[in-house]
Amino acid sequence: MTNAASRREGSARAASPGEPVMPEVEQHLLTPASPGVGRVVETRPCTAGRKAAGFVRHICIDVSGTPLAGRFRPGQSFGVIPPGLTERGKPHKLRLYSIASPSRGEDGAGQTLSTTVKRTIDEHWDDHTLFLGVASNYLCDLKEGDEVAITGPAGKRFVLPADTGAHDYVFFATGTGIAPFRAMLLELFGTEGPATSRVALVMGAPYATDLLYHDELSELAERHENFTYLTAISRERDAAEGKGLYVQDRLRTHAGELTPMLDSDRTIVYICGIAGMELGILQAMGRALDPARLSQYLTLADEAPTDPLQWDRRMIPRTLRPTRRVLMEVY
Ligand SMILES: Cc1cc2nc3c(=O)[nH]c(=O)nc-3n(C[C@H](O)[C@H](O)[C@H](O)COP(=O)(O)OP(=O)(O)OC[C@H]3O[C@@H](n4cnc5c(N)ncnc54)[C@H](O)[C@@H]3O)c2cc1C
Repeated sequence: MTNAASRREGSARAASPGEPVMPEVEQHLLTPASPGVGRVVETRPCTAGRKAAGFVRHICIDVSGTPLAGRFRPGQSFGVIPPGLTERGKPHKLRLYSIASPSRGEDGAGQTLSTTVKRTIDEHWDDHTLFLGVASNYLCDLKEGDEVAITGPAGKRFVLPADTGAHDYVFFATGTGIAPFRAMLLELFGTEGPATSRVALVMGAPYATDLLYHDELSELAERHENFTYLTAISRERDAAEGKGLYVQDRLRTHAGELTPMLDSDRTIVYICGIAGMELGILQAMGRALDPARLSQYLTLADEAPTDPLQWDRRMIPRTLRPTRRVLMEVY
């Protein structure tokens, strides 16, 4: 068989059980060469109180009159081009931000989209002066009515499947990784009657004060018995466990709820947030699932250690290759 023939055969293979069929989505309707102009219509902190260690804002932008209006999907991102020049006199490059709104937008008509922005604040590594990230601080400083140059939408893999009702979902988020899941949850539990899917969200944060959209998500879970909302706080002592917990620990502490979901042919796993979080989740899945079930989420190369504790991040994606039932966006 020629290479071309084998490639064709590869792309035409039948989907394995539970493998999602992804929709065609539009991308790059607005580009850096010809961005659109959005207008901030709302900006508010999305942590519960003022005691959070970081500063994270829910920022809602009116995109009406731009090609983005009505044409973005949960899981996609949009670009922001900060004004001004870099130290080298070049225009700033765009930064991507996940869309936190369902496709109907925040206004129900797809004319406004929101995102969840964390201010990047640090000390310079070399001279310990204050380091402020360009785009995140620009966005968080904007006031209602201010204009912002936008591009997008971007991303076609990290979206909900074409037939959302054919699947159940386990979402793992850390930090602003919650943004696409807020969008997906509002899409799934939208205005068109009760969702038939089961959905579990595990949200990780260092301290309880850093949880994002906590009240909104708690209310959603109260209203929908098929939505389970779990938190994992890493730097506070969990009363039952006597130590801090990471998102993957919920696969053990809530095995009764989560393992049957992962054991189902319907389930897709989504991971979004801090780069590195995926390893712990894959390891915990490796411990929770029998090899046949695990293989539907993760293809292990021959040289992969059998003990998940011996896996490391550099093994992803060659030695540990997530299947199409694991979707990741880490940054
Ligand atoms: C697909 C995708 C979706 C994303 N979604 C979101 C989202 O929803 N919300 C969100 O907040 N972010 C999101 N991000 C991240 C976002 O794009 C930006 O990278 C982030 O906001 C930082 O941008 P900035 O311009 O503020 O920082 P920058 O000015 O770009 O500064 C950060 C850079 O500076 C360097 N740096 C960091 N600290 C120091 C230091 N102490 N001294 C010297 N250099 C340093 C780092 O190398 C880093 O590359 C997403 C990224 C991707 C790829």
